[in-house]
Amino acid sequence: MNVPIRNHDIAELKRLDLAHHLPAQADHKVIAELGGSRIITRADGCYIHDGEGHTILDGMAGLWCVNVGYGREELAKAAYEQMLELPYYNTFFKTATPPTVRLAAKIAEKMGGDLSHVFFNSSGSEANDTVFRLARHYWKLKGEPQRTVFISRWNAYHGSTVAGVSLGGMKHMHVQGDLPIPGVEHVRQPYGFGEGFGEDPDAFAEACVQAIEDKILEVGPEKVAAFIGEPVQGAGGVIIPPEGYWPKVEALCRKYGILLVCDEVICGFGRLGHWFGHQGYGIKPDMIAMAKGLSSGYLPISAVGVADHIVAELKEKGGDFIHGFTYSGHPTCAAVAIANIEIMEREGLIERTRTDTGPYLAKALARLNDHPLVGETRSRGLLGAVEIVREKGTNLRFLDKEGEAGPIVRDICIRNGLMVRGIRDTIVCCPPLIITHAQIDELVDIIGRSLTEAEPILRALKPGTPS
Ligand SMILES: *Cc1c(COP(=O)(O)O)cnc(C)c1O
Repeated sequence: MNVPIRNHDIAELKRLDLAHHLPAQADHKVIAELGGSRIITRADGCYIHDGEGHTILDGMAGLWCVNVGYGREELAKAAYEQMLELPYYNTFFKTATPPTVRLAAKIAEKMGGDLSHVFFNSSGSEANDTVFRLARHYWKLKGEPQRTVFISRWNAYHGSTVAGVSLGGMKHMHVQGDLPIPGVEHVRQPYGFGEGFGEDPDAFAEACVQAIEDKILEVGPEKVAAFIGEPVQGAGGVIIPPEGYWPKVEALCRKYGILLVCDEVICGFGRLGHWFGHQGYGIKPDMIAMAKGLSSGYLPISAVGVADHIVAELKEKGGDFIHGFTYSGHPTCAAVAIANIEIMEREGLIERTRTDTGPYLAKALARLNDHPLVGETRSRGLLGAVEIVREKGTNLRFLDKEGEAGPIVRDICIRNGLMVRGIRDTIVCCPPLIITHAQIDELVDIIGRSLTEAEPILRALKPGTPS
């Protein structure tokens, strides 16, 4: 469908942005210095367009979410038709709507095993709030009310609400809002390049799992409610754990009777080449959080998948689970999510990621391994990372400080027509699952060119120079 290109008064929009809008997760001083946010006006397929006429390959699928790409008329139609029939109704009054129920069944089919129920929310953060309250509620119903502690990893991302930040392991986020709240403990992350450099991967996996067991024993196994982790940490810098890690973590949870929660907000819906990331690691979580790719970001919706043994407890013991949101199971969002999943099925995007584009991205990224600034490239499915180092063959960073090089290279990539993120000194990518081989080549080539362009700037960095 041809959408007429609207003209926007970009200067006016930037002025209004500065005058009235506080963008998310931003340094508002920097945005003011830039004269306002970059205004993105439209998008199609894998490309976004800004108001100043730039076309940018979207190496981030929006914010890790636009899995089916932009401009899907089918999703617009699903929303339009649902809005005319029933735009909204809630699930508080012993009520539900057709798309809500159908989507729940569809997600259950994709989760498989004994994950056959879902609880809806609007965002990934809310999904993790639901996990937080449901896990504690479950243990009370089970007659083990002392099981309240969550174990998570440093550098995990579980959202931006109070529970989300607390469950997350981002220290710079904890500082704002005096978090975490009590009852969340953090352990080391399985970040081989950063924290297990040169170690044998099996031994490193073992050490990371041992850290979890040590924490369980320190807290007291009878007090631990759940362990939560992203199958692959996304916002933490695309941290792909060593192969043996997840089965060992699962075994540990079973050993101590702890719930295993996978935060699939990025890894779900094909990102790692499976409907859910944990499926590729052969583990069976008790709860999973999902959002982002569930609707490819077209409308806000999230869900928590809940295992049968937890649902059985709710259904047998009874009593309200007094939790939920005005927009839990929102019919229009659910209708769009169903249509989104149908696109993924019809176009075989999950399998294509696993067997075709995922391996192609891995090979393309490997071309960067010869670059003097590249310490490592890694990927799983269509989630990729490039580590920037000062000295080939090491994991040493520029100025011996994390986060000097990343933002510089990221800004050059964007200038060169590729949207990526620089997380500390890791350039990460997460393109739409519809990306072609040629577009993957374009993505990797721009990263390579940008690294080369950045090299003299990085080599000239002096302590104290503003980046
Ligand atoms: C993005 C993200 C969240 C938070 O989702 P929001 O929709 O931004 O609240 C939670 N967990 C993970 C793993 C995420 O990537």
